[in-house]
Amino acid sequence: MNDSVNKWIDAHLDEYIEDLKNFVSINSVQGSYEQGKPFGDGPFDALNFAIDLAAKYGFAINNYQGYVGTADLDPSLPRSLDMLAHCDVVPAGEGWTVTEPFKPVVKDGRIYGRGTSDDKGPLLCAMYAMRAIKECGVPLKKGVRLIMGSDEETGSTDIAKYYAVEPEAEMTFSPDAEFPLINIEKGQFRAEIAKTFEESTALPRLVSLEAGVALNAVPQKAVIRLEGFDMTLAEEPMNLVSKECGVSCEQTGVQEITITGVSAHASTPELGKNAGLAAMMLVSKLPLAPCEQLDVIGKILKLFPYGVTDGQGLGIKMCDEESHDLTCTLDLYHVTTKEVSVQFDSRTPVMATKENCEDVAAANVSALGLDFISKGMVPPHRVPGNSPFVKTLLNAYETVTGLKGEAVAIGGGTYVHELKNGVAFGAVMPGIDTRMHGADEFFELDNIVTATKVYAEAIIELCS
Ligand SMILES: [Zn+2]
Repeated sequence: MNDSVNKWIDAHLDEYIEDLKNFVSINSVQGSYEQGKPFGDGPFDALNFAIDLAAKYGFAINNYQGYVGTADLDPSLPRSLDMLAHCDVVPAGEGWTVTEPFKPVVKDGRIYGRGTSDDKGPLLCAMYAMRAIKECGVPLKKGVRLIMGSDEETGSTDIAKYYAVEPEAEMTFSPDAEFPLINIEKGQFRAEIAKTFEESTALPRLVSLEAGVALNAVPQKAVIRLEGFDMTLAEEPMNLVSKECGVSCEQTGVQEITITGVSAHASTPELGKNAGLAAMMLVSKLPLAPCEQLDVIGKILKLFPYGVTDGQGLGIKMCDEESHDLTCTLDLYHVTTKEVSVQFDSRTPVMATKENCEDVAAANVSALGLDFISKGMVPPHRVPGNSPFVKTLLNAYETVTGLKGEAVAIGGGTYVHELKNGVAFGAVMPGIDTRMHGADEFFELDNIVTATKVYAEAIIELCS
């Protein structure tokens, strides 16, 4: 570890906080396109702020048409390491209690505000690591560049634009997640299961079942509508399903029941309570007139038993040592008297192939007489956990923090998903929920200092 660099970082925390406050004060939620401002005013202003700051600290800057900005520590060196962070933020949302989302404050060793930990704070950690190295005069042989995007939260079209004209560096890490390090993002497998049939007309009947707002989210709410049904007969099944599934069932209309569960990201479905599946379970327990629609719902429940989120019902349960369990969740539901259509989102380990995953699911669904419409498989993103690059980053982390460093796999996607040798590395310390995307988002001051030191150490190890 370089003592003078670490001392410099300790001594510049106040300056960092001032910069982060100014940065967070710019509301950089995506707006609408304008000439020269591809993501609207906010991301444009935040990007310019970051570029101007980098220029003020003596870095060579570049602006890629308002999509991306870059800062090079020493542009005369061959480019070797890129750090990829972003200036845009998700909408403020509701429920802020410590401060208003774009009026950052420091309180109890934390700085609060939208973007403090995702990702303006981590971006500045990377910039301050570069500053520390520059101002302490640490000699480097390879070039390091900070890439600052402005559209990470809404599609990452910013870096697509950048990489269309610039090559990928030999090594890239993104300070847009958590320590220690994410080297694998699971693949994705999505499909629709559907069936149309002769209209079910006999009463009592299910008129509709609707649930789900996005394919990548476990549905929080489901609504079923009935016809010709004696609602007093629903009471017992409602109690049963509420208890069995941990959801709440409530009569919300003359012949309408709303089921409320818990939403979760599709990459961690085990954290949710799937309201759509609970609704199907409830329907299967109601004394309705037999019909094909109910048969199909019964088959869907065989494929997706409530609470099973590892793909077992579909026949695609699998697990490998590097990337762990496959996850699978049924997230979109559309049921009428003439058709049933549902869609699932599965996050697949490295071992998943078309043969052992897509083909198997398709065969099992078809065997039940249902239609299977695959949206195909997206391959996983994987940088070998034992590569010198990953090992050096983990070493830097261990040296600075004294904690054990290890590479982990996740089911979600990160900013480096499309990069050949890109990993996510920090900046949030493990085990801390900084409420990214939620109310009262924060970043701990200790975490800021630690992350900046880890980045400085990593740059020195990789580039000198
Ligand atoms: Zn982010």
